[in-house]
Amino acid sequence: MLKVVGQDAQVELFIKTANKGMLAHSFIVSGPDGVGKSVFAYFMAQYLFCKEENKPCGKCINCTRIKNKNHPDVIEVTPKKSIGVDDIRDLNDKINTKPYEGDKKVVIIKNADLITVQGQNAFLKTLEEPPYDTTIIMLVENINLILDTIKSRCQIYKFNRIPTSKVKEYLLGVGVSLEKAELFSELSDGIIGNALKMLDTHYTILRNETSEILSTIINFKRTNFLEVEDFFTENKDKIDDVFDILLSFLRDISLYKNTFNEEFVLNKDKLPIIIELSRSLSYNRLNKLLDIMLNIRSNIKKNANYQMAITALLISIQEV
Ligand SMILES: [Zn+2]
Repeated sequence: MLKVVGQDAQVELFIKTANKGMLAHSFIVSGPDGVGKSVFAYFMAQYLFCKEENKPCGKCINCTRIKNKNHPDVIEVTPKKSIGVDDIRDLNDKINTKPYEGDKKVVIIKNADLITVQGQNAFLKTLEEPPYDTTIIMLVENINLILDTIKSRCQIYKFNRIPTSKVKEYLLGVGVSLEKAELFSELSDGIIGNALKMLDTHYTILRNETSEILSTIINFKRTNFLEVEDFFTENKDKIDDVFDILLSFLRDISLYKNTFNEEFVLNKDKLPIIIELSRSLSYNRLNKLLDIMLNIRSNIKKNANYQMAITALLISIQEV
């Protein structure tokens, strides 16, 4: 069975509603990225397709295929950019296709908050009466972007961040060492997906490199310009993670500078660097660096030209 970690109340609510035969055809699952929305959607699909009495059993052929994402009637749609009326027409076509095997299907729409207002209006009718016993599950980070007319047609499940103790418990349960479980749960911000990402060796390498580049930035000399520029160019695809890591270090440096209390530091394994950098940075420079990072990150998120944003970052860093 797929395990939705730390969202017991929402899972229980779903099972109770389902056992009473009161499930809707359309659902919204909302919550921050990495909190378990997608796992929950597949868990719901397992429930709907499972043939055993205690649903979802997690073992039958349907449960297994859904877990492995190869059930022909469980369709996932993952838009990368905004979804307008034309895209909704394609989506409606998908939903209007007959199930391949049985008499029902599940359509999981990730990033459904990317559907424009016009798109949402064009989707209303499908949501109201999905054909062929279709269940539509929309996953959203920001439920405020969803129209009330859509919300009123859906059963809504809200996922929140969970206590870091729960994240730690989970990590220990899957065999992560105590040291890593403590570090990653502290850094996870209460989001399981964040902690899982940190288990990846690539992430560890990126985190180490980012901490080194932060030292370089803080002790900036003109000769390092290329090194910093190369780092940002090479890590364009991982820039979200890079900024998360940079901001997490700057937060630690700021807290340590204010309190001299090691307990408040989240990046405990990097304590010596954090202490050293907190000494070499004035409050003024620290605050300016934070502003610069937040500003450039938001520009990149708004699809500013990446290389220009990085150049702007380098110029700003030299000036503080
Ligand atoms: Zn099953």
